[in-house]
Amino acid sequence: MRLLAPETNPIYDGECGITDIMIKPKPGIETIQPYQGGKPVEEVQRELGIADIIKLASNENPLGPSPLAVQAIAENATQVHLYPDGNAYYLKAELAKHVGVSAEHLILGNGSNDVLQLVGEAYLAPGDEAIYAAGAFIVYHLVTKICGATAVVVPMQDDTHHLPAMAAAITKKTKVIFIANPNNPTGTMVTADETAAFMAQVPENVLVVFDEAYYEYVTRTDYPQTLPYILEGRNVLITRTFSKIYGLAGLRIGYGIAPPAIGETLNRVRQPFNCNLVGQAAARAALKDTAHVQESQRHNAAGKTLLDNALDELGVGYIPTEGNFIMLHLNNSGASIANALMRKGVIVRPMAGYGYPNAIRVTIGRQAENERFIAGLGEAIRR
Ligand SMILES: *Cc1c(COP(=O)(O)O)cnc(C)c1O
Repeated sequence: MRLLAPETNPIYDGECGITDIMIKPKPGIETIQPYQGGKPVEEVQRELGIADIIKLASNENPLGPSPLAVQAIAENATQVHLYPDGNAYYLKAELAKHVGVSAEHLILGNGSNDVLQLVGEAYLAPGDEAIYAAGAFIVYHLVTKICGATAVVVPMQDDTHHLPAMAAAITKKTKVIFIANPNNPTGTMVTADETAAFMAQVPENVLVVFDEAYYEYVTRTDYPQTLPYILEGRNVLITRTFSKIYGLAGLRIGYGIAPPAIGETLNRVRQPFNCNLVGQAAARAALKDTAHVQESQRHNAAGKTLLDNALDELGVGYIPTEGNFIMLHLNNSGASIANALMRKGVIVRPMAGYGYPNAIRVTIGRQAENERFIAGLGEAIRR
């Protein structure tokens, strides 16, 4: 393969090493860093030769899926030669009841990430602007870049979405505003009052996406109820997921709630079978197991208290969370602490990629896992 010198090759890019015979991607794609998930347990086992590893890196439910979901998975395993119901009739009907809307208000995704991607594909073109917060969930950035739209990134205030500044960033080109509530990785939320003041400033023709992946974990009473905006017909999309409290991250089922016209638009760009057959069955079963959800909520609250108290004792700064994870502000590089923890068999997430070089994010785990994390962290920061 022949590499041309930069001055003679019109598409040469020193970073990517694109050559004259490669196909150039769309504008913006080269600036994207592939999404880095939490390291899989098997990978760390292989690389470090440690058998006993715990993963507190991807905000998964440490209690696992509902036993009812596991049963549904087993029962449906023999049916996977069939395509799933592309319209997910039963799951939608049951979700509609659960949420308190009609099935026309729902759009299903291969995880809620898929729904976010559909938003970009349906609404964001080059020249359009998408607003999101610096330190917000990274997928808004990816979607915006993939669609060739312009990213308008608004600084946070106290690690929290600053809605007045986001409203002030709206221009005639603004198409979509992404708000993670609560936000990952910071765990912070915007309040009902802040949201109401914000929505009063948003023009009717701008789509506001409230990403509520951690909705079921929120305990604060000033959390905004965003569903009324949709029932009023505002251009609002709520995304929620079966990946977090329902413990089905591996099956990739998420959903959007929106006025029917938005659902219809998103449906045009949706892949026909984006929600797999086993996932649909598991999600329906998980929805019925309210006891499992409540147990997960109780468990998370207890783990949060344990970790908050232990971090106070260690003198480590952290952001009070409304999710099932906590972001820690450290005095050293988050990557080095995460590495030290990994050598002790505890996988957490360094936060440099989110613009927090001295932070890590830890998922609230089982009690023994939380205690092992705290012990490891104590040793790591003392070194
Ligand atoms: C985990 C998470 C999601 C969920 O992604 P899925 O595709 O549903 O697994 C969405 N938004 C945020 C902010 C998250 O942290």
